[in-house]
Amino acid sequence: MDNVQAIQTSKQTFYQAQNNEIELFQTAANNQVPVLIKGPTGCGKTRFIQHMAEVLGRKLFTVACHEDLTASDLIGRHLIGDGNTYWQDGPLTRAVREGGICYLDEVVEARKDSIVAIHPLTDDRRILPIDRTGELLKAPDDFMLVVSYNPGYQNLLKGLKPSTKQRFMALRFDYPNIETETQIILKETHCEMSLAKQLAELAHHLRQLKEHDLEESVSTRLLIYAANLIKQGINPLSACGAAIAESLSDDLAVVEALNLVIQAKL
Ligand code: ADP
Repeated sequence: MDNVQAIQTSKQTFYQAQNNEIELFQTAANNQVPVLIKGPTGCGKTRFIQHMAEVLGRKLFTVACHEDLTASDLIGRHLIGDGNTYWQDGPLTRAVREGGICYLDEVVEARKDSIVAIHPLTDDRRILPIDRTGELLKAPDDFMLVVSYNPGYQNLLKGLKPSTKQRFMALRFDYPNIETETQIILKETHCEMSLAKQLAELAHHLRQLKEHDLEESVSTRLLIYAANLIKQGINPLSACGAAIAESLSDDLAVVEALNLVIQAKL
């Protein structure tokens, strides 16, 4: 397999590299450079971060961003207990205090004011001012900020501002080629080689279909679901119908068209 490496020890979460992302990430981590990972859903972004946290031996603080996420959700807040108020660190503050990787998944979903909170951590000051406690934390060398988003979902309002974007080294992820995806399905599900290959080929074909007006194409995650269903004895067409076609669209005509493709390919 050209240019493809799978680095794994018995203790590490499996991650099949597609390119030189492991080396780039490691270099960024050693040089305190924040990293932005962009790519479609289910293509391995989260798995990659988990794997890299293990390779680097750093704690991982993951935040699934959403539109109600505030700066306090990241930094922390005062809580009330036993008649007193006490301060509780949010995941970003914990990562700065304890050292580790803070991973903001789907960062474009978060409110703009919460994103501004990460700015002082992403330049050479590497500080986190906490107004509510009056603290000014200096990030240790092993603190790293990683954010991810899916450029496919982006609209003008949701895109990251250039002033935020230009603070990160960016890695572009995409769905793997047939060979690599076959290996991922095999490793994740321990299914038959022939099934893994068929599903990877089906995905490759589905991803080339442009006429169905799908918001997103089939992810590696969905192929893994399909392989697991088939392994459990579900008929392959039903398994792919449920795990792939119905997941990709709510439009009956589109689902039927996808099912026809699945039927032709399996
Ligand atoms: P994302 O964060 O990009 O939405 P995930 O990292 O959660 O996607 O990937 C979804 C699933 O697909 C993972 O749980 C894993 O089973 C599988 N997967 C995708 N890409 C890879 C890869 N390169 N190596 C290992 N597993 C992968």
